[in-house]
Amino acid sequence: MITPRLAPLAKLLVATLLAVGFACTPPKGERIVLITLDTLRADSFFGSAERPSSMPRTLALAARGAIYDHFYAATSVTQPSHASMLTGLHPWQHGVTRNGQLLSGDVETVAESLAAAGWETGAVVASFPLAGSFGFAQGFSSFDDHFDHRHPRESWEDHSIPGQRFYNTAETITDKAITLLDHLKGKRQLLWIHFFDAHSPYGDSAGLEPIRMVQIMRPIRRGRPVEAVLQRARRAYEADVAAMDRQLSRLLSRLDADSDRFTTHIVVAADHGESFGEGGALAHGKRLTPEQIRVPLFILSPRIEPGRKERIAGSVDVAATLLDLAGLPHRGPAQSLLAPPLRPASAVGMRRTFTRVVNEERSDGTKIPILGHRFFAVGRDGRLVLGNGQELLPAPTSSTLSRAEGDRLLALFAQFEQQLDSAHSLSATDDESRRALRALGYVD
Ligand SMILES: [Zn+2]
Repeated sequence: MITPRLAPLAKLLVATLLAVGFACTPPKGERIVLITLDTLRADSFFGSAERPSSMPRTLALAARGAIYDHFYAATSVTQPSHASMLTGLHPWQHGVTRNGQLLSGDVETVAESLAAAGWETGAVVASFPLAGSFGFAQGFSSFDDHFDHRHPRESWEDHSIPGQRFYNTAETITDKAITLLDHLKGKRQLLWIHFFDAHSPYGDSAGLEPIRMVQIMRPIRRGRPVEAVLQRARRAYEADVAAMDRQLSRLLSRLDADSDRFTTHIVVAADHGESFGEGGALAHGKRLTPEQIRVPLFILSPRIEPGRKERIAGSVDVAATLLDLAGLPHRGPAQSLLAPPLRPASAVGMRRTFTRVVNEERSDGTKIPILGHRFFAVGRDGRLVLGNGQELLPAPTSSTLSRAEGDRLLALFAQFEQQLDSAHSLSATDDESRRALRALGYVD
């Protein structure tokens, strides 16, 4: 008990301790976290009239931040789409236009920009297509690309898979991500965590008997009904997404628990979606369909106003946003989602041809040869338009285009096609592309 005579002294002591305590409290660090969810459909995340969300935990957390209802992946395959998120460049600019290509060391990634500005950088990726050997480790001082689960073949896109080890499931990725968080010591940290669970084989993350694409293709090739196996595959896919939801919410909870030490900014985006027979499309990568390119994106950050966002955004904008969060400038075609939308907002992307002639096998048994590049543009009205330099194709969400609008898109796509041959020489083409986009009303 403190006697009245000592009370002033005790008060002084408490005040001194508090002052010293506050003075010793280190300022909060800054943490930017990019989480990419492979192969995640928009309706699996958001829910739809047909089914509830398979990611209720993550969706509830996302609701505290900004959710983008009109986010478009740069393409429908992993490597180009991730390269766009990591560089802020379109596939025809960074040069990774299909799977199996390398991200050039000449292209500056967000991780390189932040590392050069003194940020500590670390990444955990969940599958071989994003291994460091493809150029995705650029700028990361710590990069985990060790995989446990095997691929049925020894190579992928003409690259041999070391030990046939191809991917990890969400529990492993989350454990590794949390270990990385424990390990990083910098006051400013950039992390990239990649989850692969929604990708085929379907059901393995959920502990089910896995369903592989070959089981879907077999009845199609034999002219038998495929609906039953497609429905089973979709259920297994959703079970994998639900398993990822549980693990991702564990990671998000851990990040939240560090909020006394870090101001945290989290950007969560899918690289592409998945088709289960809509319009005859299967899996991903051969077509640019709404199910494959309109995907989830949300941002949790004190720097962004929470709520559902109507603005149209694309993969390139992820990079610009990460740079903006770090207080760094960005160049190229992207726009930061922290800033008010440029009018009119837009998204563009592409799908390239393959090294050899590839047929797109549809769920009705037809085979469509993939012969030319395909580009897409999503204009201010949310209309998706597909085509190349010669023709425009009706897309499921398109209404009719005016003649002038169509001509401008043909010219734009022709220009993108020209840039494909001169990828990496961005100084000239980037300005040209921006001028063309501006003329079309796609950027200010
Ligand atoms: Zn992917």
